[in-house]
Amino acid sequence: MVWYRSDKKKTTDDLLQLSIGWMKKHKCFQENTVINGGLTWKRSSELFYSKVVGSAAYTSNFIGKERCITLNYVFRKQENIKVNISIVCSFPYFGGKRYWFLCPQCGRKVAFLYAEKYFLCRCCQNLCYKAQQMGYMGRMFEQSNKYQDRVLENGQKKRWIHRTTFEKYLDKSEEYEMRGLVSMCKDFRKLL
Ligand SMILES: [Zn+2]
Repeated sequence: MVWYRSDKKKTTDDLLQLSIGWMKKHKCFQENTVINGGLTWKRSSELFYSKVVGSAAYTSNFIGKERCITLNYVFRKQENIKVNISIVCSFPYFGGKRYWFLCPQCGRKVAFLYAEKYFLCRCCQNLCYKAQQMGYMGRMFEQSNKYQDRVLENGQKKRWIHRTTFEKYLDKSEEYEMRGLVSMCKDFRKLL
């Protein structure tokens, strides 16, 4: 997973990123199955050097309708943290199935969560505000939010929005979020 520094001007926030796409690709969850595993976050600062900057144990429970992952980790070598993060799925108009985290704080459907201490969406983590000061990246995140806000209310699909429109907007939202993230990672590399 990608680790990045989110703010280069003020204090440095070191946030870990949790990606639903990454977890799915690496088979961290499967329907009707409980899976236990571990996650590590690495930071590559030189060609042959990468340092583990965070780790967590996870249990994904996809039995029944209530899908969730439980993360266990130690914050700053002092505090044991155990959190449950709900996962919901939607069915894109072009077929298949896609998963989303529900932000534990605001209930938004998101493809990425970020942690300093707790894993939250970029808005709850205040990245949106910081991103506004960051030009291109900020605009990408803003666009991403706009697409979500048009079809989501309290983390749920607005009732009058057609499902295909809903999925299209979520796709767009994710696309812009990815662009923002790529730009964020490039910025980070410049700092090294
Ligand atoms: Zn949130």
